[in-house]
Amino acid sequence: MKELIGKIRNVDTHSFGFRLWMVLELFAVMVCGILWVILATTIWTTFENDQIAQVRQAGNIISSTYGREGFMDSLRSVARSGYFVQVLREDGSLLYSLDNTGTPAPHPQDNLVSVDIFDKLDETDGYYFYRGEDTVYNSQWLVQVQVMGLQDGMREVLFTSANLVPVSRVMTMLYSRLLLVTAAVLVVATLIALLLASGLGKPITKITQRASHMMDGNYNEAFPDSAYTELQQLSRTLDTAAAEFRRTEELRRDLIANVSHDMRTPLTMIRAYAEMVQQLSGDNPVKREEHLGIIIQETDKLTKFVNETLDLSRLQSGTVELHMEVFPLKACVESTLDDFRHLWERGDYHLFLSLDPGVLVRGDRRQLERVAFNLISNAFNYTGTDKTVYIEVAQVDGQARFAVTDTGPGITEEQLKEIWDRYYRIKRPDESSASTGVGLSIVKAILELHGARYGVDSVPGKGSSFWFALTAQ
Ligand code: ADP
Repeated sequence: MKELIGKIRNVDTHSFGFRLWMVLELFAVMVCGILWVILATTIWTTFENDQIAQVRQAGNIISSTYGREGFMDSLRSVARSGYFVQVLREDGSLLYSLDNTGTPAPHPQDNLVSVDIFDKLDETDGYYFYRGEDTVYNSQWLVQVQVMGLQDGMREVLFTSANLVPVSRVMTMLYSRLLLVTAAVLVVATLIALLLASGLGKPITKITQRASHMMDGNYNEAFPDSAYTELQQLSRTLDTAAAEFRRTEELRRDLIANVSHDMRTPLTMIRAYAEMVQQLSGDNPVKREEHLGIIIQETDKLTKFVNETLDLSRLQSGTVELHMEVFPLKACVESTLDDFRHLWERGDYHLFLSLDPGVLVRGDRRQLERVAFNLISNAFNYTGTDKTVYIEVAQVDGQARFAVTDTGPGITEEQLKEIWDRYYRIKRPDESSASTGVGLSIVKAILELHGARYGVDSVPGKGSSFWFALTAQ
């Protein structure tokens, strides 16, 4: 009991479950209240009107057969269906008097059936209706009096009477039932609130807990499943967000590791060789040249790394303005290829070109040349032992498509998701030491600025084909 009181005291009145419970209870109370009002205001008149209409109908059934063969039958059948019926002649003789079982009986209200009634009927055009008191049984009667016709010059009057079932008794019964219904509805509303609160409230609490764990840096717990579509969607969306956070976090760690590594290695080399020049090779021109060459090479690497990082940041921040023009994609590829001419002219590489001169694109030529350069340079770097690279420019389904294909190690499904990320490098023994992992991020940023589609088709062990497509002009 103490526990229960403690629980009630600790109820969070702002919680979803409590609010839901309140709303359902209020709704239930409102519905029951409306029922109570309807009952209290309309049932009395409806109920009595209904009984009056029934008496009228019963009287009319009998009077419609007056003077005909079926008169006695209709008198009896109406009486049996719950009415007292009397037929009184003007001379005071009571012709028929049947009780509600159809057996002859005096009317429980002796004073009702009297000759005085004829004076009254004179005033009311031969018909009237009234409510009479029965002091013996302490009940009320609804009585319809109507002149049916003349017999031997005397009026014959039909009394159709029904015991008025006291509305108050019915009302008491209905009220007690309604009280039960109200209590039952409140209990059911509480149960529904509990059910819904545990079905909705509990997963929400779990999601909140899980989200706060995520805030603390724990991205590995899955968000709970729920039977409700919206909560299920919320959980899945948060799962995706957690995966993204996890990836970003990993990327951040890698980034710090890579950047510090990428900067530290050339810096160490520069320092080491500068010391060597200072202490050892300063007087030896050959050695000195060699060591200074390495210093320059490492400085170039560092500069490339810093420049690429800056370029990428600018591209990604959207501060780079594109100078759009229409030009043949082939021309862009050819001017890029000039940078690699020495490679295949020396016969080191086999280059296969299929460049459609009619394919025009709209874009920033310098930036697209950079894209082509990075992709072609990767193809030369990573192609297989046959040293073959294929480059294609073609128009496909209204799209200007560029593709560069190599026969290198290819890229696994897992790595495919990451290669476009900044500083991501596939750790391979043959990976170039000049690799910064920025090239493809720059490609991605430029192509996205152009609204181009891009991708890579790769079969590990067979080679890769990097491509992009722009709307052909
Ligand atoms: P980088 O600028 O150092 O070349 P990229 O961003 O261009 O770096 O490439 C990222 C990673 O993707 C590299 O580590 C490389 O291993 C891989 N990669 C890029 N192009 C190819 C290719 N054609 N074949 C196989 N691997 C590739």
